Amino acid sequence: MLDKLIFVINCGSSSLKFKIIDPIKKKTLLFGLAENFHNNNSIIKWNFNEKKKKIKFYNKITHKFILNYLVEKILKKNLLYDSIIGIGHRIVHGGEKFINSVLITDTVLEEIKKASIFAPLHNPIQVIGVKEMKKILPHLKNKQVAVFDTAFHQTIPIKSYLYALPIIFYKKYKIRRYGAHGTSHKYVTQIAAKFLNIKLHNFNCISCHLGNGSSITAINNGKSIDTSMGLTPLEGLVMGTRCGNIDPAIIFYMFNELNFDMDTIYNILTKKSGMLGLTNITSDFRYIEENYFKNNDIKIATDVFIHNLTKYIASYSVLMNNKIHAIIFTGGIGENSTLIREKTIKKLKILNFFIDKKLNNIFKYGKIGLISTNFSIPIIVIPTNEELMISQETFKIIYKIK
Ligand code: AMP
Repeated sequence: MLDKLIFVINCGSSSLKFKIIDPIKKKTLLFGLAENFHNNNSIIKWNFNEKKKKIKFYNKITHKFILNYLVEKILKKNLLYDSIIGIGHRIVHGGEKFINSVLITDTVLEEIKKASIFAPLHNPIQVIGVKEMKKILPHLKNKQVAVFDTAFHQTIPIKSYLYALPIIFYKKYKIRRYGAHGTSHKYVTQIAAKFLNIKLHNFNCISCHLGNGSSITAINNGKSIDTSMGLTPLEGLVMGTRCGNIDPAIIFYMFNELNFDMDTIYNILTKKSGMLGLTNITSDFRYIEENYFKNNDIKIATDVFIHNLTKYIASYSVLMNNKIHAIIFTGGIGENSTLIREKTIKKLKILNFFIDKKLNNIFKYGKIGLISTNFSIPIIVIPTNEELMISQETFKIIYKIK
């Protein structure tokens, strides 16, 4: 038997990501992805011992099928099966109930199901994932842990999470800001506090998770006090294909005047907007960065992205009286896009943020480091690792470590 390993499972609506992690050594032994479940082009790809493998199925597959395949054909074959001591599930929405990760009991599973109204594409599938794993690995049925994207934001005060709607919509229907990317914001906050040698409970920062989905969080004394995503991950910053903040009246205009039906409008706001919608070309920031000075549509779209990000950083900075120890950049764009980091920070001189161009060019492609000048409030690039965080939380809960 190897070490104590955690099986991390992230069930999406038509995909499943997985990792086998040693949470103590912080080492990933195996990772992969199964995708395209609903068409005849489904595939599972994985990486073990630096060897890449893939199997195509040429038919529709289910989460149940792929979890069985993973255990029987991959984990057992690679001698990892016996070392797995727990299963960590990424759960998108925990409603107001879950402020921390929890061991999954029948009651917890019921609550996760109830929160499905706010994450209809994710929570029901994630419940299936938990139930299937109980059958596939019955000896671990009481060692499954739910790690919620929303839990980290349960500390935000009522003034940050209420929408100015008739109060019944919160009291009866629980419509409020829940936020997302909590696992990532929590992870990078912990790393940043260690990096700067400040105790987590004294640490104040602004965490910018910029990826296909982007969100920004204000963290005071190690706790989330405001975040840009809302009831769902559609609110906030300009994203890859999501619109972020818009005037809600636009939806009525599209419906009443332009005669779009509600499904089409939802599809436009979630899949066809953001950088893809503005550029009319791509949501890929590698392409966007390369073409910023060559294509005017790309320049304008990027300027809109930066303008929104700057407004959030400035307003969160003010919320914390500018007594912040760091800005953190993470996510595919935050970790790699020197252009976005430079152009955003240049607008924030008034708040004592100054970027060091040379350092900004060094810290990308998975490197952690400071990209600010000596005069600046520290600006740090930190590669996120949500799965490692899930494995560590799972380990702690199984062994009842505080
Ligand atoms: P994520 O959702 O965190 O995986 O981030 C995906 C986003 O990161 C996409 O827009 C990518 O284009 C962007 N990204 C990934 N690598 C780079 C890079 N080297 N330079 C700029 N953007 C990148």
